[in-house]
Amino acid sequence: MSMDIIVMGPPGAGKGTQAHAIADARTLPHVATGDLFRDAVHRETPLGQEARVYMERGELVPDAVTVAIVLERLEQSDAARGVVLDGFPRTFAQAQALDTALAARARRVQHAVYLNVPREAILRRVSGRWLCDTCQAAYHTLYRPPSVAGRCDACGGVLAQRIDDRRETAERRLDVYLEQTAPVIDYYRQRGVLREVNGDQPIADVQREVLAVVAALR
Ligand code: ADP
Ligand code: AMP
Repeated sequence: MSMDIIVMGPPGAGKGTQAHAIADARTLPHVATGDLFRDAVHRETPLGQEARVYMERGELVPDAVTVAIVLERLEQSDAARGVVLDGFPRTFAQAQALDTALAARARRVQHAVYLNVPREAILRRVSGRWLCDTCQAAYHTLYRPPSVAGRCDACGGVLAQRIDDRRETAERRLDVYLEQTAPVIDYYRQRGVLREVNGDQPIADVQREVLAVVAALR
């Protein structure tokens, strides 16, 4: 039996942090569209050149492009048992495309974990965020400092700040989230798969609740 889990919430809610923990606990691939796009930007591929324009503005990359990279990722053999999706779907069209793709594999979204975090906490989180250039692990100056300044605890990679975490861009991302992604939460709520978790607690406490939610899945 496969296991398909979505992690949802505003930018900076802790999706990457918690999706990583779920993926570890359930031995599933962690598929983060933001990470896939950042990697493409870094490698300066045609996809990266296209995505960069939207990312720098704090806007969504068009659905056709985003759906295509997720479908390609789902084709890979490690995704056959399921995936933990982080940052996808962010629009209705993406949610519908995901349903279709999973249905074609006799699968469906089993849990949509929604990390509920208020606006002020979000802005504090993104302003202190540092990401590993190599493995994309997330650190925070106050809430999750690395053991060695500027270096990733997991792989020793160099930590860098995201240009879209600048205050103005982060605020734009939050507005885009409220306009386009928040309605998708209701879509999963109506289907009875939404699992809301209070994301406004220390990382370990959020993790305990999130892992308890997904522990019920077989
Ligand atoms: P998202 O993937 O939703 O954008 P991240 O997982 O990258 O969010 O987390 C955003 C920032 O907040 C990171 O710097 C991370 O270390 C930090 N963070 C994540 N969860 C919490 C939490 N529960 N409390 C405080 N800081 C957190
Ligand atoms: P994230 O790392 O999830 O915060 O995503 C960073 C940026 O990548 C977003 O602000 C968007 O520009 C783009 N992006 C990531 N996921 C998606 C998605 N599902 N749909 C459209 N754009 C996305």
